[in-house]
Amino acid sequence: MSRTEATTQFETVIGLEVHVELSTETKMFCACRVTFGEPPNTHVCPVCLGLPGALPVPNRRAVEFAVRAALALHCEIAPVTKFDRKNYHYPDLPKGYQISQYDRPLGTGGYLDVPLPEGGVRRVRIRRLHLEEDAGKSLHDPRLGTLVDLNRAGVPLIEIVSEPDLRSPEEARAYLQELRNVMLYAGVSDVKMEEGSLRCDANISIRPAGSREFGALVEIKNMNSFRSVKQALEYEAERQRALVLSGERVERETRHWNERAGRTTPSRSKEEAHDYRYFPDPDLVPLRIDAEWVESIRRSLPELPAQRRARYEGLGLSAYDAAVLVDERPLADFFDACLALGADAKQAANWLMVELQGLLNEKGRELSATRLTPEGLVALLRLIEEGTITGRIAKEIFPEMVESGADPRSLVEARGLSQIADREELLRVVREVLAQHPAAVEDYRKGKTNALGFLVGQVMKATRGRANPGLANELVRRVLEE
Ligand SMILES: [Zn+2]
Repeated sequence: MSRTEATTQFETVIGLEVHVELSTETKMFCACRVTFGEPPNTHVCPVCLGLPGALPVPNRRAVEFAVRAALALHCEIAPVTKFDRKNYHYPDLPKGYQISQYDRPLGTGGYLDVPLPEGGVRRVRIRRLHLEEDAGKSLHDPRLGTLVDLNRAGVPLIEIVSEPDLRSPEEARAYLQELRNVMLYAGVSDVKMEEGSLRCDANISIRPAGSREFGALVEIKNMNSFRSVKQALEYEAERQRALVLSGERVERETRHWNERAGRTTPSRSKEEAHDYRYFPDPDLVPLRIDAEWVESIRRSLPELPAQRRARYEGLGLSAYDAAVLVDERPLADFFDACLALGADAKQAANWLMVELQGLLNEKGRELSATRLTPEGLVALLRLIEEGTITGRIAKEIFPEMVESGADPRSLVEARGLSQIADREELLRVVREVLAQHPAAVEDYRKGKTNALGFLVGQVMKATRGRANPGLANELVRRVLEE
């Protein structure tokens, strides 16, 4: 059976479990600083090392961030929530248990509306959002063996569990992108997948299209980038299809994504020992979440990505353009600053997405590393709009504005770049150009009308792009018809 036949017969069902590190100053249950990339074991204390007698104290800021995240995902906030111990043994877990939340998570019953690549929106239900602490990091050194760094042990995390509402690896990727945007806009995390502050596991199964039952669930771990999430799920869906089509059964298991080999492999039994013997942490009292506090956090939430996209579309931007801007928050903030200065939405978006992005991609730079200001870009747009310069000249001076932050008006004056819109002045240039290109003039008169474009181009060249293009066109035509 061919691959395409197989894909029409099965539906892929995916749910994601996402861990997000909260960007608090200090850890979840102690005063150690949250850091990244510092020398190993320099931010540890008796609490996060799990020394006997040390007592955890919840970080109020972490609870606040978790509430913010839960509200941004439309979750119900539990009036009373508690912490439980999840027991397992691993070298990077000094206490022999992780403090997490089991049967009374902070948030439940939310959703995330995910804009799909092919257009439209998929509403993905959020089953739960809970708070927990991170484990340390194991480093495998070929010479020294396994080393443990506990700087990360005790860093506050939220785990966000979706219902199995995603129907393709592409949708899973889109969900992750949108979840990342929401966390970033809510201001609770820097969500850098490459630094581990956003981590993702997936549940995936396949079933005959139209069926309501679920197939055997396979859990995929170790996906370290947006790209690997999509690739791992594509590989796994195909592996399961091939098994079913050859009459074999899909085993319920945990598999690891092997980035280099491009495949998933069965994992050792650690994660499969699902008996974590959860019980309430006797060192921590249940947390009462004050309803008024929750409301004040709700009121302090900024405009979220979906609202921002809708606002941009309302200004006349395409859904695609709105999504590109919103996905790059600094770009969207810059765009908003331009709007506040009175810029035309479509013009400003176009300059940011085409000219600026082009330059940034070319140089592998971020917007923040440039000296372009909203005032500068808006001034440039004004110069074009009022006819002082042509679009071509604007594009010519733009890289310098990005580089030095120079004011476009001063650049135009200093270099004499203002547009030639004076009929007499331009007419003189046109006559000169036509005199220099008798062959093209002859061609035009014989009916080869594309000679017109060539001659107008020569006029633009002769004026170094300063001629008003409409007027140049009109004058060339007029002189040719004389
Ligand atoms: Zn500590």
